[in-house]
Amino acid sequence: MRFGMFGGQGIKVGRILGIPIRLDLSFFFVFALVVFLIATQIMPDAMDGLGGAERWLYGLVGGAVYFLSLLVHELAHSLMARRYGMEVSSITLFFFGGVSLIREDSQRPGQEFWIAVVGPLASLVLGAGFTFVALFALSDGTALRNIVFVLGVLNCILAAFNMLPGFPLDGGRVMRSLVWRLTGSRHRATRASARLGQLLGAAMIVYGIGGLLTEIAFFDMGFNSLWLALIGFLLMTQAAQGVKAAELERDLASLRVGELMLEPPVARTAEADLLVRVLAPSRAQLDQQDVFIVAEGGIAVGIASAVQILLLDEERYQSDRLRDIMLAADQVQPLQPDSGADEALQRLQKERTFVLPVVERGRLLGVVGLEQILKALGQGPPPRLDPSAGA
Ligand SMILES: [Zn+2]
Repeated sequence: MRFGMFGGQGIKVGRILGIPIRLDLSFFFVFALVVFLIATQIMPDAMDGLGGAERWLYGLVGGAVYFLSLLVHELAHSLMARRYGMEVSSITLFFFGGVSLIREDSQRPGQEFWIAVVGPLASLVLGAGFTFVALFALSDGTALRNIVFVLGVLNCILAAFNMLPGFPLDGGRVMRSLVWRLTGSRHRATRASARLGQLLGAAMIVYGIGGLLTEIAFFDMGFNSLWLALIGFLLMTQAAQGVKAAELERDLASLRVGELMLEPPVARTAEADLLVRVLAPSRAQLDQQDVFIVAEGGIAVGIASAVQILLLDEERYQSDRLRDIMLAADQVQPLQPDSGADEALQRLQKERTFVLPVVERGRLLGVVGLEQILKALGQGPPPRLDPSAGA
């Protein structure tokens, strides 16, 4: 997982619509805090008539509904991404909110726009719904009404905060999609919106620290100052990665697959009938980066990688021929020598393969693997960042 500060996979708690839901360790800290705040701070007057156990029960239920609201927000992103054929690896709730890990970057500005905008829309609908119920369906002065109202306000804040125009916040992604549409360049759009994200992050840090260190009324947000400074820090870090990723993407798009690919004799040619164990008598000594062009009667028909051989179970290692394990050139859509390296990387990630054939006019010229591209790239785009403002 690429999520620097709160790295690690978190604890898997289940699946919704096939998407694994995970909780980062930091989630439990914030959950406890939210429960505590609701039970002791949020509505002291309405809670007056309640006993201790009831207060904590309200805190627990309120906290749970709040985090379910976050989950709804993330599910909106994830389901929209899935509608566009993108694979969603997981949703993780963590310290500042949630993150949907979508395996691909958007291919068109329209996709980016809709995937980004549905999250805040979902929060807004929830926020309006809770507020409406609190104001018109529940009787005045009760603890229940107060907590539903607070949940409504929190969801509205969540929607508004995430629509701030700095990448990788949702609003930054919306902006990215608009700049992308206007300029036709994804990496330029990423860089512009990520620069704004850096600025926004810096402003939050200044404002948050101002609130913590000074008595000036303008900065005073109480407890939220610390929160804001932390979110600002995270936003700045992630936005800086976005700027870097955009620059890498620009470099990558300018590289042709033909310049990167391994050709014979670096990529060794081997006959399709050759037994795998004959080609690689000792798997321990196999170089993981090796790729083989598989030929039949002098004509290249497919490719195989050392990684594939390493992953074979012992039985198949003993009995398979290269033909059995190869990626046949006519079964995958090949890359052209003048395809961009960015396209090659996206296809490798999407098709979960280690190498792709490069073909020109029906002739297999060579292979391109993650290895060749990663040297030029470093890492993928940062994940979506969804702070749960002012929890
Ligand atoms: Zn979001």
